[in-house]
Amino acid sequence: MKKISAPLLEWYSMYKRDLPWRRTKDPYLIWLSEIILQQTRVAQGTEYYLRFAKTFPTPSSLASATEDEVLKLWQGLGYYSRARNLHAAAKSMKGKFPRTYEGVRALKGVGDYTAAAICSIAYNMPYAVVDGNVYRVLSRVFGIDTPIDSNDGKKQFSALAQTQLDKKNASEYNQAIMDFGATVCTPQCPQCKGCPLAKQCVARRKNRTEELPVKEKKTKLSTRYFHYIYVEQGNCIYLHKRGGGDIWQNLYELPLFETSTEKRPKVAWLKGAELTPMGTLKHVLSHQIIYGTIYKVKLPHSAKLPTEFIKIKKGDLKKYAIPRLVQKLLEKIKTEI
Ligand code: SF4
Repeated sequence: MKKISAPLLEWYSMYKRDLPWRRTKDPYLIWLSEIILQQTRVAQGTEYYLRFAKTFPTPSSLASATEDEVLKLWQGLGYYSRARNLHAAAKSMKGKFPRTYEGVRALKGVGDYTAAAICSIAYNMPYAVVDGNVYRVLSRVFGIDTPIDSNDGKKQFSALAQTQLDKKNASEYNQAIMDFGATVCTPQCPQCKGCPLAKQCVARRKNRTEELPVKEKKTKLSTRYFHYIYVEQGNCIYLHKRGGGDIWQNLYELPLFETSTEKRPKVAWLKGAELTPMGTLKHVLSHQIIYGTIYKVKLPHSAKLPTEFIKIKKGDLKKYAIPRLVQKLLEKIKTEI
């Protein structure tokens, strides 16, 4: 079968999206954009990219920030381990972004895809990217049924992607196939009419665009119930810093009680104070559905709270990085954040 690189490069020269990280060859900025865009839509990621590039224009500026500052800037983007890894990787660079594939791949939070993307886009190195868009385009054009989330599938698609790569134009080609998957060969309703690969596309010929790509495993979702208590004590409220081994590590939240059902929790240190729910929200993450409820309680100055909670002035809440769910729940009780 004919290689797909020539028609894709021609298509890209006409329809390339003008995105801020495409106006630079600085590997540090390209790395920033790649980490921000993992599991994030371009529209949302653009705003965060601009904010990060302005606040931390160099590896050293990012390395010298505190983790709280990085998390605060990341607030609302989700998958917070990306921000922690970004910060750790910046520290490991000692002011210089790595120049080799091995050096880039060794950065914390950088996998095969991201290393290939950075090295090809910034240095034009001949590494083919394989992301969700590439899996979709290749499985459809070549009519491949191997599940993309199986070990065999990963090997097969990455070998095929490498054979399709235009090695002299790795930077443009990789961006072309990803853009093409994001805008033409989309998951639903691909624009097969007028598609530059239509003539050679097996899925189109066999009417199988909806079946491809194939996935083996369905993501299992667990359900959790988070009860957040907004404790007012005069002009102060309380926060809690989340620990490791769970979502939102090192972010701040209101005192939390997790239950296995939606039943209201019993909280010993409230000493019988009534918990009145002020609002509930459903929050969907990749592997979990969380039902978050917020309660408001006023306590006298004499009340003692567990030492794990941090007492802060109400007006200081905006200085802390808090998960999106907590932000939305605070909006329900009209708290400024
Ligand atoms: S013809 Fe349709 S399915 Fe095939 S590559 Fe083009 S847009 Fe995708």
